[in-house]
Amino acid sequence: MKAIVFSKALYSTWVYYSPDRILFDCGEGISTLLENKVFAIKHVFISHGHADHISGLMGLINIRNNAMGDHEKELRVYYPAGSFFVSELITYFARTNRNLQYELEWIPLQPGDRVPLLPGRHPRYVEAFATVHTRGEPSLGYNVCEVRHRLKPEYRELPQEEIVAMVRAGKKGEISETYTQYLFSYGGDSVPINPDLVRGTEVLLHEATFVDDADRKEYKHSTVWEAIEVAKKAEVQKELILFHLSSRYQWEIDKLEARIAELNTPFRVRIIPPGEIVEIE
Ligand SMILES: [Zn+2]
Ligand SMILES: [Zn+2]
Repeated sequence: MKAIVFSKALYSTWVYYSPDRILFDCGEGISTLLENKVFAIKHVFISHGHADHISGLMGLINIRNNAMGDHEKELRVYYPAGSFFVSELITYFARTNRNLQYELEWIPLQPGDRVPLLPGRHPRYVEAFATVHTRGEPSLGYNVCEVRHRLKPEYRELPQEEIVAMVRAGKKGEISETYTQYLFSYGGDSVPINPDLVRGTEVLLHEATFVDDADRKEYKHSTVWEAIEVAKKAEVQKELILFHLSSRYQWEIDKLEARIAELNTPFRVRIIPPGEIVEIE
């Protein structure tokens, strides 16, 4: 997994997931910070239309037309169907960017919709899931999914030679099953995500705007502790990445990390410090 994450609540959030050239959300500063890497992006998945998640679109769309790079590479932007803010932005771009050299496509998505990424033996796709954020502005989270094959439980104890013999005898379909592995799950802004929607994911990016529940005035965002609870219930396999932290906690990250370490979670927990660009290997 390789990703670049930038997130500061209310200011800007964007996450570049390089294996599939996906940008999740597009807050301001993205093009300035990624520079020519913006040409690598194939798909942009917008979680919702709040300014801190879409304010970088103007720069991204224009720089792909003007900077040094492949000006004919198409760009697809997916967003929650019914988003008022994104719809207004689409109108703006249609009126002001008549001379784009590449194809720019806007695709509305509903929970459960799938976007194919890679065909082949282990096809990959992105699946949208419902999140709860603010009233009036629809929001979505996204799973990067891979279809894999494994032996059915009743065959897993058999010696290797027997398995090989069965495969040679043309029984592969009979002894194996396919399953979907979530590789990377991005929740956008939301109150705690329903763990069933990201179950077993390798890496979960859950927002954690607040540390103390008392700081939360309206129920639109999650706390650090709620996000950790979601990751535990969802049985996250490798890592929980906490983003969208309010800058009021900027100087307390060490203390927060120490408190989280005491929980001994079965997965790694990483905090994205507000305003820092973090590269994840
Ligand atoms: Zn936000
Ligand atoms: Zn928001």
